[in-house]
Amino acid sequence: MTEHPRPPQQAAAPRIPAGPLIPEAPAAQAAAPRIPAGPHSPEAPAAQAAAPRIPAGPHSPEIPAAQGAPAAPAVRVPPVRRWHAELAWLPGRGVMPDVLIEAAGDRFTAVRPAASGTELAGAARLPGLTLPGLANAHSHAFHRALRGITQAGHGTFWTWRDRMYELAGRLDPASYLALARAVYAEMALAGITCVGEFHYLHHRPDGSPYADPNELGKAMIAAAAAAGIRITLLDTCYLSGGLDRTGSPLPLAGPQVRFGDGDADQWAARAAALGADLHGMLGPLARVGAAIHSVRAVPPDQLHPVIAWAQHYGAPLHAHLSEQTAENLACVAAYRKTPAEVLYDAGALGPRSTMVHATHLASRDIDLLGGSRAVACFCPTTEADLADGIGPARALASAGCGLSLGTDSQAVIDLFEEARRLELGERLATRRRGHFTAAELAGAATVAGHACLGWPDAGEIVPGALADLVTVGLDSPRLAGASLATVLESVIFAAAAADVRHVVASGTDVVRDGTHLLIEDVPAALSASVRAVLS
Ligand SMILES: [Zn+2]
Repeated sequence: MTEHPRPPQQAAAPRIPAGPLIPEAPAAQAAAPRIPAGPHSPEAPAAQAAAPRIPAGPHSPEIPAAQGAPAAPAVRVPPVRRWHAELAWLPGRGVMPDVLIEAAGDRFTAVRPAASGTELAGAARLPGLTLPGLANAHSHAFHRALRGITQAGHGTFWTWRDRMYELAGRLDPASYLALARAVYAEMALAGITCVGEFHYLHHRPDGSPYADPNELGKAMIAAAAAAGIRITLLDTCYLSGGLDRTGSPLPLAGPQVRFGDGDADQWAARAAALGADLHGMLGPLARVGAAIHSVRAVPPDQLHPVIAWAQHYGAPLHAHLSEQTAENLACVAAYRKTPAEVLYDAGALGPRSTMVHATHLASRDIDLLGGSRAVACFCPTTEADLADGIGPARALASAGCGLSLGTDSQAVIDLFEEARRLELGERLATRRRGHFTAAELAGAATVAGHACLGWPDAGEIVPGALADLVTVGLDSPRLAGASLATVLESVIFAAAAADVRHVVASGTDVVRDGTHLLIEDVPAALSASVRAVLS
C-alpha cells in the first residue's frame, strides 16, 4: 500500500498555471516559507486562466490580505511536498536507499539519501526505484493511430509514409486534440514527463490556414496540458515534397499541402504568432522550438529564417537527418553535399540542435555533428519498425554528441525499450557488448532528453530542478528479484512501460498506482480517438 500526500479528489481539481510565464528561479522558491499543501485550489486571476490549463497540480495557496488592511497583492507560497523513495537514482551517486525528496511548487528543494526514520516520517512512500522524469524527445502524436495497421502485410518506409499522409489528411482540430490528449496520457503512464512534438500539420486539408493559423499547434499544447505533461512544440518548417532527379524541390502535393507555409519567412511569421515570450516560453509547462523537417522538405536557401527564429528565442532546433539512404542520395545528387553537410554549412548545427535518427552518416558527418556539440535523437523502435537501419550511436557519442531518445511513430511508447535498444543495436551491429552503461542509457532517457527540448533544468533529482519523479515498481514478473547493486541495469534492460507506478510532473501527481489521475480511462480515450480518425 502506498501512501500519498494528497487525496484523489484534490488531484482531480483543475490546476491553473500559477505565477509568471517563465518558471521561477529555484532559489526564489526555495527561500519561500514552507506551508503544508492545503486542500483548496485557489482561483487564478482571469489573465492566468486564459493560459493553457494544466489539470491537477500542487497549488500555490494565496495568503489573503487581512480584512480592513489596504489591498495588497496576494503572496503565492508554493506548497511543500515530501517523498520517501525506497530507492532513487541520483546524479553522480547512483542508486541510493531511503532518499528524502522535497519540493516546493514545481521544483525540488532538497534531496537527502540514507535519511533517518525521523526525517522520513510523514513523507509519501515510493516503493521501487524512482527515476527522474523521462523525456520523449521526438514525437508525432497522430502516428499513434497507425499502430498495428502499418504492421500488416509487408511494405516499405515509403508505403508506411503513404498511410501516414492519408491519415494526416483526415485530422481536424477537434479530432487531433482528442487523439493527442490520449497519446500524451499513454506517455504519462509510461513515465514521460515532457514531450517534444515535431509538429508539421499546420493547415486545413486544402492548405488554407485556420482562423487561427496556429490552431493545431495550440491543440497539441492543450493536449499535453490535459495529460499533465510538459511540451516543447517543435514547430516544423516543411516547404517541399522532396527533390526531383535534377535536384529541384518538388511542390507539396496531396495531404502534404497541409504542412506548408509557402516559404520560410511565412513559416517564421506564423510560428512567431504562437506568442512565445523572449525565452520561448508559452506558459509554465510549454515552450516553443523550431524544426527543419529535413533537407528534402526545406531547401538550403530557406534554412536561414528557421535558424534565425530559433536563435531569437534561444529555442531548440530539431531536424530529421539521414533516416533513409534515399534521402542521402537525393541530397548529394542535388547539392553535392550530404544532409549533415548542408545543415552544417547553413549554420544549423550547434549545442541547441538535435538531429533526429542520424542513421546513415559518413565519418565526416559524425565529425560535424560531434564538433558542433549537437544532440542525436535516436528512435530505435521506429527505426527498426521502418527498417531504417542502426545509427552510429557510440561513434556520435564519442565524437561529442549528446544522445536523446524518442518514440517518433509511436510504434510503441516505452522509453525503457528505446534506451536498451541503443545498446542492443550496437551489439548486433558490432557483435560486441558493453558500448553504453545503464546509467548512460538512463541519462539519454532523462536529463539529455529534457535538455535537448529546452528544459536543461529537468531530468535529474537534484535541488533546483523541475520536480519530476517516475517510480518503477520492482514487484512485476519482469523485475522481481532485482538486486540493489544492479537495479538500474534491471530496469533499463528489462522494465516495460507497464512497470511505471507513480509519476510526478512539475510537482504534480499525474499517475498513481498505474492510474492516470487526469484522464479516467486512457485506453478508452485512445480507442475512441483512434476510431474517430480512422472511420
Ligand atoms: Zn519523425
